[in-house]
Parts: sequence; structure tokens; C-alpha cells
Amino acid sequence: MSTMNTVGRPTTPNQVETKPATLTGGRGLLQDEHLIFESDGWGKTGVDLPEPKTDGSDLGDLVRRDPIGLPGLSEPETMRHYVRLSQKNHAIDLAIYPLGSCTMKHNPRLNEKMARLPGFSDIHPLQPQSTVQGALELMDQLAHWLKTLTGMPAVALSPKAGAHGELCGLMAIRAAHEAKGEHEQRRKVLVPTSAHGTNPATAAFVGYTVVEVAQTDDGRVDVADLASKLGPDVAAIMVTNPNTCGLFERDILEISRLTHEAGAYFYCDGANFNAIVGRVRPGDLGVDAMHINLHKTFSTPHGGGGPGAGPVVLSEALAAFAPAPWVVSDGDGFKLVEREEAEAEQAFGRLCAFQGQMGMYVRALSYMMSHGSDGLRQVAEDAVLNANYIKARLSDLMSPAFPDGPCMHEALFDDEWLKGTDVTTLDFAKAMIDEGFHPMTMYFPLVVHGAMLIEPTETESKQELDRFIEAMRALAGAAKAGDVDRFKGAPFHAPMKRLDETRAARQPVLRWTAPEGSNIAAE
Ligand SMILES: *Cc1c(COP(=O)(O)O)cnc(C)c1O
Repeated sequence: MSTMNTVGRPTTPNQVETKPATLTGGRGLLQDEHLIFESDGWGKTGVDLPEPKTDGSDLGDLVRRDPIGLPGLSEPETMRHYVRLSQKNHAIDLAIYPLGSCTMKHNPRLNEKMARLPGFSDIHPLQPQSTVQGALELMDQLAHWLKTLTGMPAVALSPKAGAHGELCGLMAIRAAHEAKGEHEQRRKVLVPTSAHGTNPATAAFVGYTVVEVAQTDDGRVDVADLASKLGPDVAAIMVTNPNTCGLFERDILEISRLTHEAGAYFYCDGANFNAIVGRVRPGDLGVDAMHINLHKTFSTPHGGGGPGAGPVVLSEALAAFAPAPWVVSDGDGFKLVEREEAEAEQAFGRLCAFQGQMGMYVRALSYMMSHGSDGLRQVAEDAVLNANYIKARLSDLMSPAFPDGPCMHEALFDDEWLKGTDVTTLDFAKAMIDEGFHPMTMYFPLVVHGAMLIEPTETESKQELDRFIEAMRALAGAAKAGDVDRFKGAPFHAPMKRLDETRAARQPVLRWTAPEGSNIAAE
């Protein structure tokens, strides 16, 4: 018997169990694909190079005598290998990527076109500055936009990711305390329990002791607890706003007042800037340092290895300690201040070689200029509207972690509603994969039991949101109706089932070794 489910496609009950396994491992025109090393291409090559003109070499004894041990594939074989692998993965170009805290939004193609202009993509970081004036001007303009949007007087562009930006911010804070002779006494950094793991990790990495700040029942920083922990031994607080529960910190002005009163600095984790860009200037909230994930808010690609960019805006109090390099201009054009001397004598040093991720700067500025300031404000408004739409349409079936009032850019549910179903958050997420949807962020923030954190971003249309919501509702209905098998064995339709994720993280197998008896020497 065929029934119509709420997603609108015909489906047979227990379809999952009755489907025969395929004979080849392929399915529905998708090929099963092996490791490149397991192809039969040894001894083959896809290119035809002329013989070298001389047989001499400067390498002496270091010349390789054995085969290099790399598989050889023709051009079409190489193409197919990587395209087949790509089909096993999810991408923002395929469907919604509802990972909370990640801001996985559409990356306009215009950004890519701009980043590929030879004047940006073919330059070298060691080129004379007179030959890269346009690139320096672009960095200067990006810095201007970031400072204007955040209401902060300075920005360090070079950090290469959000976590790297946190490191930059805390190093500037440490340098400021050192300059005041207070570093020895200020050894603590206060971090709320809902913080992203990179916050305490960064503080510990810079040598601080991390002290947790409690959270109120409505998901905000407990100001009384914060006040009781602030003192002459505290270097900084690290607060995310909007926080990782998807909520605006209502007491943010009081938080920054108390922090400054105690002589500490206010580091704001700006990964969620997407929710307030164009609406709120962190500088007006008393923030001293905040990283901006260009690869989240400003739509440069991320996931699958980056590269990212995490510029850090700095308050007046910290500006002098920003790491080199930065761009300055005068009548003769643009110039990079490269060293911790002269105008940069208080800089805490450099964070990385060269100037940071040029391609990401181009993409981010291209995004800003194509939206304009009014467009950027609409980004925040639409992102928040979309999240609230999801929250409103799922709250009768699933349990919102903080039911009272609207959320910001992400809707957070706990697993209360799954009680008694024998289905866990993990099972539910795996079943979403079978339905064609990438799961939301799970079990984060840690303060919410069995958390499901859904961030749609502004680039999902109502139609896409409805498709996602109907799938979630159908699955929630199945869980409540006792269809446990659909969840426990999921994913049934993905090429990989449930991996031992702990082992994969702790003991990754990163090296292929030739099978016993083969004469292939991979190196
Ligand atoms: C993404 C994120 C970070 C870290 O940013 P990366 O660019 O991944 O290093 C830090 N804090 C929060 C809240 C985030 O969502």
C-alpha cells in the first residue's frame, strides 16, 4: 500500500527494510569508489613529459632510486575519482546545511569571480609593495568596512580562522596587561559554560587559568556569578554574543561595565555576528576585542578544510598591541607596516608569515560591496526571521531549549521531547541523512541536554525551509509513533554508516600501506 507522507512524496511503509542491497555497492547511478591507491593505475601516467635534456642532477646522493609509489591515472580517471568522491559529500550548493554556530550560507559566485582576478590571485606576498597597490587598497577597504560595521577603531586582518583570532585577541590583552605591569597578577580568564570549545582552549593556550561562569535558566550569562568572580586576578572575560544558545545577551552592557570596572578586558567571540551585522555595533557594547569569521558572516567558503579568515577588531585600549602587519596610506599610496618597530613598537609581534588570506579578503569585500550597508542589515534580519520560523513551526512537536521569547539566528531544541521513544539525538540526526538532509549541530552547546542547534541562515528560501521543516516533522512523528528501527539503524542510505567517531579522531589512519605481497612502495 502506498501512502503520501507529509513531505509530499509517495512512500511505502517499511520501505527501508525491504530494499535489496545492490550487487556492486553502487546505488542509483552513484558509483562505489575505492581509495585512489586501490585503483589499478600503478605504472600509468596521465601526462606525457619530454625526457629531461641532461642526465646530470644537483642532488648527488639524494637522487631517488626507487619508484615514487604514487598511483597513476589518466585525466578522465582522475576526474571521475574526485567527482565520485564529491558526490558522497554534502555541500551548501546541494541543500540546506543547518549546522548551528557554523553559519553555512550560500557563497555568491561573484565573490569567486573577484578572487580569481589575476591582480589578486597571481600576486606573491614578497612582491614589492609598489606593484601590489590594488591589493593593499583592498585590504584597507576591508579594514574600513569591518571597523565601521563593528564600531571599533582598529582591526588585525591576519588571523587565519576564528580560533586564531581568539589567540590574537588574548595575546593583545596579555600585551596590554604586561604594558601596565599587571600581567603577573591577572592570571584568570572567565568563560561562560555555554562557550564554544575554542574559547577555553585559547585561554589555556595563552597560559591563563579558565574559570567557568554559570548560566541563568533562560540561557544567558549569570551576571551575579560573573560579578562574584571578577577581581584584580582576572585578565579578561570571553563572551559570545549572540551566544551559542542563539540568544542575545540581554545584560551585555552590565557585563562590560563590570568587566572594565574590575580592570579586565572584554573579549567577544564574534562567530555569531551574522545575527546582528548592520544592526548592532559591538564597539557600542564595550567590547575590547572580537574576531569576525569572514568564512561565516561574510560568506567565504568553509568546511572541508578552509581556508578561513578571522580578523580581530580592537578597542582603543588594545589597538596599539595589534600584531603586524597592517596597511597605512599617505600621499604616495598604500604601505604595509611589517615590523614591531616605529609605529608598531607596541605590537605583540606577528601571528603568521605574510599578510593573511588574500583570497578571503577579496571574497568578503565583494560580498559587502554587493550587499551594501542596507543589504547587510537585511542579512541579519532575514537570518533571525528564518530561525524563528523554524522554531515556531517545530515547537509543538519538539521541545525548544528556551521556549520563552524569540531566538536570534539559530533555533535550539533539547531532547526532552524524545523521552520514552528510545530514539536519541544522534539517532534522529542519522535518520535525517536518510531523508536527504544534513543534520543540525548536535550535543552543543553542552549546557543543553541532547542539544539540536539549527541555523538556517538568511539564504534559505521559505520553500526550502518548509521542505526541511516537513522532513523534521515527519521524522519527529515517526519517533513518537515508535518507529524505532528507522532511527537505530540509520543511516541506511549513506555510503558510510555509523563510524567509531572517537577512534577516528584519536587514531586516524592517515597512511595507506600496500597490501602484503604487492611490489608497490608507497611513500
Ligand atoms: C566557528 C566558531 C569558532 C571558531 O572559528 P573557526 O574559524 O572555526 O576557528 C569560535 N566560536 C564560535 C561560537 C564558533 O561558532
